[in-house]
Amino acid sequence: MANSFYDIAGQLAQLKQQGLYRSRRLVDSPQGVLLKVDGKQVINFCSNDYLGLANHPEVVARFKQAADQYGVGSGSAHLICGHSSAHHALEEELAEFTGRHRALLFSTGYMANLGLISALVGRSDTVLEDRLNHASLLDGGLLSRAQFQRYRHLEDNDLQEKLAACTGKALIVSDGVFSMDGDLADMPRLAELAKQYQAGLLVDDAHGLGVLGKSGGGIVEHYDLSTDDVPILMGTLGKAFGTFGAFVAGSDDLIEWLIQKARSYVFTTAMPSAIAEATRVSLRLLQTEVWRREKLQHLISRFKAGAQQQGLQLMDSVTAIQPILIGDSQRAVDMSAALLAQGFWVSAIRPPTVPVGTARLRVTFSAEHEYHQVDALLDALGKVIA
Ligand SMILES: *Cc1c(COP(=O)(O)O)cnc(C)c1O
Repeated sequence: MANSFYDIAGQLAQLKQQGLYRSRRLVDSPQGVLLKVDGKQVINFCSNDYLGLANHPEVVARFKQAADQYGVGSGSAHLICGHSSAHHALEEELAEFTGRHRALLFSTGYMANLGLISALVGRSDTVLEDRLNHASLLDGGLLSRAQFQRYRHLEDNDLQEKLAACTGKALIVSDGVFSMDGDLADMPRLAELAKQYQAGLLVDDAHGLGVLGKSGGGIVEHYDLSTDDVPILMGTLGKAFGTFGAFVAGSDDLIEWLIQKARSYVFTTAMPSAIAEATRVSLRLLQTEVWRREKLQHLISRFKAGAQQQGLQLMDSVTAIQPILIGDSQRAVDMSAALLAQGFWVSAIRPPTVPVGTARLRVTFSAEHEYHQVDALLDALGKVIA
């Protein structure tokens, strides 16, 4: 006999027992380095607001003005009557920022990846993904119905073997900066392999844009690659940009194809225009306020040096994502709770977000952190992990 369909309580209990139960905490303040959580002020080390733009006064002011100008809701999908001049201007600015012909806005990064991959490959094709790619990239690959192959993390030999065996079109898909590890894809090598095997290459640079590269151009700028090396670039607006939404940038034909075929673009309501206007301001700040990127790098260096002195096990990351490997899920959760009790919010990341046995504390930095806050975090980590 089949299991009872409605034994959800039993399944929940099982999650709790495995240390995999997830719950939300209530935040009662704007996003920033100091958060009021469950009524108490804590220092935030778990946000993706890397440049501190989520509550920037100029971004907020433009958002309010634009709500007066456009209202709140966008009314429909882009292809019906929801595509405003605010969206269009942001798309043009994102295209210029990434050095590509065009850019297309999506309502979230998750949706961008689902729509993008499933519009580009189908049943007779193959999609090749790094094992540690973001869930939305993996889900996009599965949804496409293409043959789905995962290669071992950063192992180009494994990828090359799989490419050599492909029939039909092949699409290589990778995070630029891996979201739970903070390490970088070997983008020059991926570009080389894509050319050698005439495969497509799609990079999701959610955690690189704004953070890497002199002008915040992300992983592509970091490695000094051309648009020809990385023809399909996806970025999110909810991280370093500090707002909400996502985009794909590439050739005119690519964008035109997505407008026709990306179902998560066609069949969903456009993001509010006020978000687009606020994002235009954050795009300008991201490019011009270079000190934010520089400060972030100083904070990261200080943390890494301090962590090394304390013998903390960091991962191979030069980015704002600095995970500390713990292993056991319950242990990671207990440590996160102990840190919170001391006033530091660091999230525990567990399976299935990361592979079994690699639960971790994921520390992230923002340009708005102060150096003494990093030192205080290191002290607290030392006590909790000892
Ligand atoms: C956050 C993230 C996404 C999803 O973007 P949302 O706009 O939050 O839906 C996609 N890819 C990567 C690598 C991410 O880190």
